[in-house]
Amino acid sequence: MRIGLYPGTFDPVTLGHIDIITRACALVDRLVIGVAINRDKGPLFPLEERVEMIESECAALGDRTGTEIVVHPFENLLIDCARDVGATMILRGLRAVADFEYEFQMVGMNRALDASVETVFLMADARRQAIASKLVKEIARLGGDVSSFVTPGVRDRLVAKFD
Ligand code: ADP
Repeated sequence: MRIGLYPGTFDPVTLGHIDIITRACALVDRLVIGVAINRDKGPLFPLEERVEMIESECAALGDRTGTEIVVHPFENLLIDCARDVGATMILRGLRAVADFEYEFQMVGMNRALDASVETVFLMADARRQAIASKLVKEIARLGGDVSSFVTPGVRDRLVAKFD
């Protein structure tokens, strides 16, 4: 059984993340979505809400693809989280060149910690490549329409947050 770990902050989950999750489902039998607690980043949504949003947005996707999707909050080292969930693959999305430098370093460090876990990079569809949680929050905060970037459920939560 192939188990993959897709880690992130998901504050909140966007159509970019969902695009990557859909592609990842084609590669693994079980996809663990690792939600980093990430107190340092000062997330807008508390962990429970970030988990709830992913679970509700991904339920149908799991049924449709036949891949088991599990949402798993974590606070420890990514490589330890991969071991905890039995993942042999870490999946990451690449947006722009700007992501590359950081991801390149992460792969090197994680490989030094555990060479048996491979990191796989995926790119979203062109229309979703530019979507970033940080910008979505900024647009919502300023009263803009975020419907092209997130699902209706997530949009409603963003609107409620900044009401
Ligand atoms: P992080 O805090 O680790 O950047 P995010 O929640 O922002 O976590 O993103 C999780 C993963 O999803 C990262 O690998 C990020 O590059 C990827 N990702 C986010 N948005 C997109 C997108 N629009 N297209 C492709 N990958 C994306």
